[in-house]
Amino acid sequence: MIRINENYTKLKASYLFADIAKRVNAYVAANPSKPIIRLGIGDVTEPLPQVCRDALHAATDELGQRATFKGYGPEQGYAFLRDAIAQHDYAARGCKIESDEIFISDGSKCDCGNIQEIFSHDVRLAIPDPVYPVYVDTNVMAGRTGANVDGRYQGITYLECTPANGYVPAVPSVATDLIYLCFPNNPTGAVATKAQLAAWVAYAKANKAIILFDSAYEAYIRDPQIPHSIYEIEGARDVALEFRSFSKTAGFTGTRCAYLVVPKTVVAYDVAGNAHPIHALWNRRHSTKFNGVSYPVQKAAAAIYTEAGKQQTGALINHYLANAKLIRDAMTKLGFSCVGGDNAPYIWVNTGRDSWQFFDTLLNQAQVVCTPGAGFGKCGEGHVRISAFNSRENVETALARIAAALK
Ligand SMILES: *Cc1c(COP(=O)(O)O)cnc(C)c1O
Repeated sequence: MIRINENYTKLKASYLFADIAKRVNAYVAANPSKPIIRLGIGDVTEPLPQVCRDALHAATDELGQRATFKGYGPEQGYAFLRDAIAQHDYAARGCKIESDEIFISDGSKCDCGNIQEIFSHDVRLAIPDPVYPVYVDTNVMAGRTGANVDGRYQGITYLECTPANGYVPAVPSVATDLIYLCFPNNPTGAVATKAQLAAWVAYAKANKAIILFDSAYEAYIRDPQIPHSIYEIEGARDVALEFRSFSKTAGFTGTRCAYLVVPKTVVAYDVAGNAHPIHALWNRRHSTKFNGVSYPVQKAAAAIYTEAGKQQTGALINHYLANAKLIRDAMTKLGFSCVGGDNAPYIWVNTGRDSWQFFDTLLNQAQVVCTPGAGFGKCGEGHVRISAFNSRENVETALARIAAALK
């Protein structure tokens, strides 16, 4: 008799986006003449930069000629892209990352989900709350947690992100082995300082732990004091892996390209206490289970690192950041305390009331969709996430309606 992986039955069904859709659809059915503006989504809205489109076309034409046709590429990614990343994302910031420490993939979501496979079944997890759900759910699937009791899985050390700590968690008092951090953060938009990240690196060293650092939103950082990479912290090369994606940097959510940095100096231990470089394990896993990102997409990603590419992606991100500033200023003026929006495309609004109740108010009185914070974890209650991913016109209209509804 074929059996299921029963860990899947522990997963809390994610009702968040289904519940939002249900409420929005009901409102639209009852009020067909009132157009909705969606500031709830975590997906980009503006078109792919011209340099990327040109690169896609040119690479496609190469594949159409026998002399330049390409079949399977290297599983880890083409050297032209890995070299560009090492030079522009790391060497330019004073971080020592070699090209062969960079693994190209089709998304950070997959990388975040896949990486935990190379670690022991019984590693102790530290995961923020509120959080991007992938970190928790993939570990539940792998059987690293107990049951979900009251919205929390047994066996996870939750790192609470609250108004009291400015939504940046301090290191826990207990030892853990695998630590998930994401800055600039989704959903809160909070950023971590060098000193805050240095404390995490020191904690990881002291506990022989590994930090999984998700910096999907690093391109939104504008404050020159805020680190873009965990490798700007002394010693991070020994204890941290870094996830980066072109999704939010260059509008690649539908095009699909990302990378994982695995320094050769990061180790984990076998049962006898012998150290093993994670790089070799990940290389084995990646080349066994993945056959590389398509050549045209890697060419499109590499185009971002040209002068024209930097200018075009910079303009794209400035557009979203200008939206974010409008949103944060408007919500602050209405009397709410907010984080995010200055170095991130998300604004985390402390609503002072139930997050679904606030969601309903915005939907019914302003026809604006946000995301209730409770959907991201216990500590998200009382908050909503407003996303800057939209046109200027939609953001301005939404904010005028919110101001009229809440004043
Ligand atoms: C959007 C996002 C990513 C990127 O995922 P892709 O699979 O590369 O599109 C990674 N982490 C977080 C927290 C995100 O919000």
